[in-house]
Amino acid sequence: PVLRVAIMGLGSYGTRVAEAMQACKMAKLVGVISGTPSKIKNWQSKYNIPEKNCYNYKNFDFIKDNPDIDAVYVITPNALHHDQVIRVAKAGKHVICEKPMALNAKEGQEMIEACKKANVKLLVGYRMHFEPKTLEIIRMRNEGELGKIMFFQGLCGFKIGDPTQWRLNKQLAGGGSLMDIGIYAINGARYMIGEEPVWVTAQETKTNPEKFKEGVDETIQFQFGFPGGAVASCLSSYNMSNLDRFFLTAEKGFAELQPSTGYGPIRGRTNKGELNHSHVTHQTVQMEKMAGIILANESARVPVNGEEALKDLKIIDAIYLAVKTGKKINLKL
Ligand code: NAD
Repeated sequence: PVLRVAIMGLGSYGTRVAEAMQACKMAKLVGVISGTPSKIKNWQSKYNIPEKNCYNYKNFDFIKDNPDIDAVYVITPNALHHDQVIRVAKAGKHVICEKPMALNAKEGQEMIEACKKANVKLLVGYRMHFEPKTLEIIRMRNEGELGKIMFFQGLCGFKIGDPTQWRLNKQLAGGGSLMDIGIYAINGARYMIGEEPVWVTAQETKTNPEKFKEGVDETIQFQFGFPGGAVASCLSSYNMSNLDRFFLTAEKGFAELQPSTGYGPIRGRTNKGELNHSHVTHQTVQMEKMAGIILANESARVPVNGEEALKDLKIIDAIYLAVKTGKKINLKL
């Protein structure tokens, strides 16, 4: 069986996913949704997409009448995900949505409910859950090879360019670096430690209020406490380069990933030595596995569904609240 996918949003990441999907056996790009007719034309000729599988943002609800599309992959600016995912669900198609799934937990909850009601699957593009070195560290931890987990450090950031881009527009991005890149440290803290945090504290620093306007965070540091006693310390920034590192320390060993969440190759090292698992194109493996999850019609064992993404949104809500109030925020995930 093959999952027939339409991509919504033909921007830079959509393009990367389309390229990567060419190597998939179980997922095939068959349709597009875009507001730009010239892009649709290019994609049609490049990927052999028939006219009847091309939609725009006004008419894509009619996808419900198209038996040749099984799922839509939403790869648009963050603020659009909520309404677009709900419209796809109402059209009766499975949804894969890019991270962050939405701008806050309330939106995320509504998306989950809409997909449940429509009896369609909702998955979120957390590609690191398919990355071999990451999975090896999770395996080592699960099998007790690292012993009791004590501390995680997650550093995620880059120096963002063009001040006019949607990522620096609160209306479209929903926030700043935390929504975009800090979410990797949030999700990473959860999968590296293997527990859900019970509290968070956070501090924001802004050196350039001209570029990073009200509601768009430049740099946030945040800390988590976990039920087993582990703590985490994370940094999310749009104004520091070469920040792409995870470090886990435990009673019997350590694990380090650097780079940890870039497109790869990921590099990993533990107390036992270098991790030598070969590089995979993240988006290819992700789409192959997600096709399996959707087609097998069983609940995902890989933690990339809407409920898992909602936990990250609850944490994001709490981090912004912690920044605003200066208080320690308790979490119930
Ligand atoms: P991008 O700006 O390159 O592409 C966004 C696309 O959305 C563009 O083609 C644009 O034309 C379209 N669009 C539709 N409606 C729009 C509107 N009202 N305003 C602006 N653009 C509109 O951005 P991107 O880097 O492709 O990011 C898209 C999504 O993918 C984001 O949610 C981002 O977080 C996510 N992303 C995920 C990864 C990952 O590794 N998982 C990497 C990059 C981006």
